[in-house]
Amino acid sequence: MTSKTHEAGGVAGLMIGMLYLGIPKISAITIIVALVANLVGSLMPDIDQNQNRLWDMIPGGNTIGKVAKKVFWGHRSLSHSIIGTMLVYFGLKWLLPKLFNHDFIDTNIILISAMIGFVSHLCLDFLTQEGLPLFFPLKWKFGFPPFKKLRIRTGRFVENWVVFPILLVISVGLIIYLAVSKYFV
Ligand SMILES: [Zn+2]
Repeated sequence: MTSKTHEAGGVAGLMIGMLYLGIPKISAITIIVALVANLVGSLMPDIDQNQNRLWDMIPGGNTIGKVAKKVFWGHRSLSHSIIGTMLVYFGLKWLLPKLFNHDFIDTNIILISAMIGFVSHLCLDFLTQEGLPLFFPLKWKFGFPPFKKLRIRTGRFVENWVVFPILLVISVGLIIYLAVSKYFV
């Protein structure tokens, strides 16, 4: 899937999470950092791709992206697997409290928000023809539906005109619903 679909998927996942877990009582700064963490998390698995939007944000990013692709054994390998997800989770769990002052920012919320973004990315890629190497370093790729031909092709009609609009409607709809239910009910 493309970056815009993953970003919309990350936000939709975050809003669905808030719908089920409830809106936590957190500071405005935590909300802003959590949203950024969610977006970065939703793009992070494609860090092994030099056309990833994350690389566009830093100077020389394209070159670093090409190197990253080699480090990560090509596109859709470690970063799209269960081991990769666990590494990111434990890595962030260790790193976030060192990056942010806990008096101002709730790093657990940032961690959950980033991981919702990350996992939403894998869920969306699971629907594509390329599939996911969930049990990397084993090379088998999995997807849904199990028959490759029935799955979505990245950047084509179904992604752009069905998946992306649905995620957008879910995101915007839930943001409005959550805001209304929090402040007016
Ligand atoms: Zn991906």
